[in-house]
Amino acid sequence: MNAMWFRADLRVHDNPALYHAVQSGPIVAIYALCEKQWDIHQLSNNKREFIIAQLKQLNADLAKLGIPLLIIKGADFKSLPAKLLGFCHKHCITNVFFNDEYELNERSLTLEVENRAAIKNVALRKYHDQCLIEPGIILNKQGLPYRVFTAFKKEYISQFKTDLRPIYGSPKTHKEQKDITVKSDLTALDGLSYKAFDHEILSVGEEKSHEQLNDFCESGLSHYNQDRDFPSIEGTSYLSAYLAVGILSVRQCYQAAQTERESEGRQTWVSELIWRDFYRHLLFLFPDLSKHKAFQSHTDELPWKHDERLFKAWCEGKTGYPIVDAAMRQLNETGWMHNRLRMVVSMFLTKHLFIDWRKGEEYFMQHLIDADFASNNGGWQWSASTGVDAAPYFRIFSPTRQSERFDQNGDFIRQYLPKLASLDKKSIHSPSSEQAQLLGYALPIVDHKLAVAQTKANFKALTK
Ligand code: FAD
Repeated sequence: MNAMWFRADLRVHDNPALYHAVQSGPIVAIYALCEKQWDIHQLSNNKREFIIAQLKQLNADLAKLGIPLLIIKGADFKSLPAKLLGFCHKHCITNVFFNDEYELNERSLTLEVENRAAIKNVALRKYHDQCLIEPGIILNKQGLPYRVFTAFKKEYISQFKTDLRPIYGSPKTHKEQKDITVKSDLTALDGLSYKAFDHEILSVGEEKSHEQLNDFCESGLSHYNQDRDFPSIEGTSYLSAYLAVGILSVRQCYQAAQTERESEGRQTWVSELIWRDFYRHLLFLFPDLSKHKAFQSHTDELPWKHDERLFKAWCEGKTGYPIVDAAMRQLNETGWMHNRLRMVVSMFLTKHLFIDWRKGEEYFMQHLIDADFASNNGGWQWSASTGVDAAPYFRIFSPTRQSERFDQNGDFIRQYLPKLASLDKKSIHSPSSEQAQLLGYALPIVDHKLAVAQTKANFKALTK
C-alpha cells in the first residue's frame, strides 16, 4: 500500500502528489497534526481553525474516492519523522507521495523524513506544487536569482510556454482501492478548537473556493486594476486563505484568469499571483529569510525602537491615525486585512513608530487567516525597505494622504471606527484634537513629519 501525505495542499483536484499516488496503487491519506509546531510558527488561531475545518471537508471528499484519511499527531517537526515512518511500518506502506514545501523548517523536515525513509526502505515521491514554476529554475543570465520583480516576472511569463504543466483533472483511483480495509481516523481533531473570534470563519471546501474564483473572474477580474486599492469595495478576489492552505492551487487561479478576455485587470491580477511566487522562490534560494534575517543585511544595524506602549497602540488600533486604526481593527475582528492597508500599517509601524518589522510580521502571523510565511515576510520586508526590490526608504507613505486617496469618503473608516462615523469626509482622515476628544478617539501617537525625518536620517546613517 502507498500513502499520500497532505501538507499545505488540502485539496483533491490539481494536486500533483495525489494525482500520481492514486495511479500507483491503493492508498491511504495522512495528515500530520503538529500543534507544538504551530505554536513555534506562531500560527494564528484563525488559520488553525480553517485548517481543521478543511481537514473534515477533505475527509468527506476523499471518502467519495474510497480513500481513508488518518490524522497523525506529531507534536512538532522533530518528533514527526519517527511517527510518520512508524505509521508506514504499521500499515506496510512502501511509497509516500507528497508535495514539496519551501520554508526552512519544512525543508529540514522533508530531509529528515527522506533520510529515515531510505533506511526503512520506504520510497518518497516528491512533487512540485506551490508555484506556477518550480523555485530555483528561474535565474538570470549569470545563473543568479532575480532581485528585481519586473525582470523576474518577464522571465517567468516567458517560461510559461514550456514550464507550465496543465491542470490535473479529478483523480481516478486504482481498481484495488475498494479493497482497502483501513478506516478514516479523525479522532485527533475531536474537541480541537481554536476559535478566537466570534465572526464566521471563511467557508471551507474546494467547491466554495471555485465558486469564489469563478465569481471573481466573471465580475471583478477585468477591472481589478482599478478597484483593488480601495478597501471599502470588494475589489479583490479574497482567495488568499484558500491559497495559503492549498484548497486552491495557484495554477487553477492562473488558468481561470486565462479563460477570461485579455484586460489590464487580468494582467494586474496575474502579476499579483507572480508576486506570491516570487517570494516563494526567494525563500527557497535564500534560506536566511526563514531565520528572520533582513534580506539587505546592513539594515539589521538600524536602531529600531523597543517601545511596547507604541507597539500595543498599533496592535489595538489606537494610534490616532484613523486609517491605521480601522485597518488594525479589520485584522483583529476578521482575521483578514486588505492589501493596501497591509502596506499602510506595516509602513506606519516601521517608518513612523520605527519598530522592528519582525514584530509586525509576527503579529500578522498570529492573526491572519491567510498567514503565509513567504508572502508575509516579503510584504513586511518590502514596507520596511529591508527586503528584495523593496520600497525605497525615503518614499514613506503618509497615512493621512493614503486615507484620502483610497478611502475618499471615509466609508472604510466608518465601518471599523464607528465612533468617527459622524465626521465629514474631510476631517475623518485626520480629526482635530477637539473632535478626537469629543468622540473619545486617540490623539496621534507620533507626529508624521518628525517621525519621517528621523527614520530617513536613521536609514541614511547606515553604511552598506
Ligand atoms: P488578490 O488581490 O485578489 O490577489 C490574488 C492572490 O495573489 C492573493 O490571494 C495572494 O495569494 C496573491 N497576492 C496578492 N498580492 C500579493 C502580494 N503583495 N504579495 C504576495 N502575494 C500576493 N498574503 C498572504 O497570502 N499571506 C500573508 O501572510 C500576507 N502578508 C502580507 C503582509 C504584508 C505586510 C503585505 C504588504 C502583504 C501581505 N500579503 C500576504 C499579500 C496580500 O496583502 C494578500 O495576499 C492579499 O491582500 C490577499 O487578498 P486577496 O486574496 O483578495 O488578493
